[in-house]
Amino acid sequence: MAAAKFETPALKPYPVIPLIAEGAMAHSKPFVAPAKIQEAVGFPGELTEGWEQRAVAKMGELLDKYRSLRVYMDACVHCGACSDKCHYFLGTGDPKNMPVARQDLMRGVYRRYFTFAGKHFPKLVGAVDLTKEVLDDWWSYYNQCSECRRCSVFCPYGIDTAEVTMAAREIMDSVGLGQKYANEIIGKVHRIGNNLGIPEPALADTLAGLEEDTKDDTGVDVRFPMDEKGAEVLLVTPSADFFSEPHVESLIGYAKVFHAAGISWTLSSKASEAGNFGLFIGNYEQLRTIALRIREAALELGVKRIVVGECGHAWRVAYSFWNTLVGIGAGGKDPFAIELQNQLDPRHKQPTHICELTYDLIQRGALKFDKEKNDDRIITFHDSCNVARASRMGDMPGGQFVIPREIIKAVANNFHDMAPGTICESTFCCGGGGGLLTDDLMELRVKGALPRMEALKNVVDGHGVNFMATICAICKAQFSKVLPYYGFDMSLVGGVHQLVSKAIRL
Ligand code: SF4
Ligand code: SF4
Repeated sequence: MAAAKFETPALKPYPVIPLIAEGAMAHSKPFVAPAKIQEAVGFPGELTEGWEQRAVAKMGELLDKYRSLRVYMDACVHCGACSDKCHYFLGTGDPKNMPVARQDLMRGVYRRYFTFAGKHFPKLVGAVDLTKEVLDDWWSYYNQCSECRRCSVFCPYGIDTAEVTMAAREIMDSVGLGQKYANEIIGKVHRIGNNLGIPEPALADTLAGLEEDTKDDTGVDVRFPMDEKGAEVLLVTPSADFFSEPHVESLIGYAKVFHAAGISWTLSSKASEAGNFGLFIGNYEQLRTIALRIREAALELGVKRIVVGECGHAWRVAYSFWNTLVGIGAGGKDPFAIELQNQLDPRHKQPTHICELTYDLIQRGALKFDKEKNDDRIITFHDSCNVARASRMGDMPGGQFVIPREIIKAVANNFHDMAPGTICESTFCCGGGGGLLTDDLMELRVKGALPRMEALKNVVDGHGVNFMATICAICKAQFSKVLPYYGFDMSLVGGVHQLVSKAIRL
């Protein structure tokens, strides 16, 4: 591990509200996307003269388009209930990382240009001009929000800072100030089909290799098919599942589940990515264009069911937006959406999360496990933000909390949850979500992981936990990187289907 240029916060046995450290993270900024990356995804290449007017006009457009944004700008009473709920504030002490202060960066500009009082008596209502200094603050602090929505759970008005962050990033992109990490990835999805930029032949080789490895391990011919027309299921999964550790262990787990249940399935070279970074930059057009690849693949392959692998924000996009965005599930009204709705099997939820599929098979007795194969593990579960606070699973309230835990308990004997205020709806972000999983933000990622690391340490010390399962590719990558900063082994994190893979009888 490269030497840290910052101090890793000390783990405390219980959450402590930090002392205020004014400007402590003002230096934290992601790399700015060069013109080539910006223009490849349809944004201006750089800030040019007149950007202030264009930014204010864009803000006006978003305020008209998203009523929620205008309500969030007007409704806050500065009660402070959200102020100590953000992991980035808890990990850094920077007051601008309090959710209310993050919103106020936009609220001041909103008041100046869109309210009567702000136009005529700006000082009285905290209204500010959109200057380069204000934009610099936006760039820094709207890139210190992982859009995790934890603050909104505690706000009496339900104000969602994540939406404010998305709007701020959209405004900045529209005037030529975009994040290199997110926009480069979006470009790769358009050009190559997935976030990692894995070309089709390399993907085919990887899948063939996985078939061989799984045969060596189990003696069984478990398939990893790609582009197979007529398969029942199209599996759309984060591209990290193809190459990264521990992600690939879950991909092997999905394949074993399909094999054991006798379900025909396929991956798609066209839709070889479940992730959708259009969400992180708040851009509807990107969100839709990226999602359309999945609809095209489903139509071409003639599948009856679309299943999403272990990826938190991908499941949020699939569960909450795919229906009206592209017609996967009821909602879309264009001819292709209608064609797909006629093609998909109405007996299944469209889309289905891989955990829903596995849980349903377990409930019906269609899968058998040797639970003792996971006896070397004492397991806890990290709820990923986008699954926990922006989606659901199954047919029960809170199914997104119950189903992954029930799968773990079906395949392993030792499970201990972390403390109640740190899981389920109140879960803490891994620190790397929302488009911040980039090494230029390493200090932020490490410090933002503090509350989760403290909760983890308590179950490690109290119950001997040695494995933290999760169902998000970003969480897995983020924890693999930050766990060592806090003295844990990086192999402590893994997927739910990694556990399934170990115990399933083929
Ligand atoms: S959405 Fe999450 S990261 Fe953003 S301000 Fe709220 S708690 Fe912090
Ligand atoms: S909890 Fe809601 S109303 Fe209170 S300060 Fe935070 S955003 Fe404003």
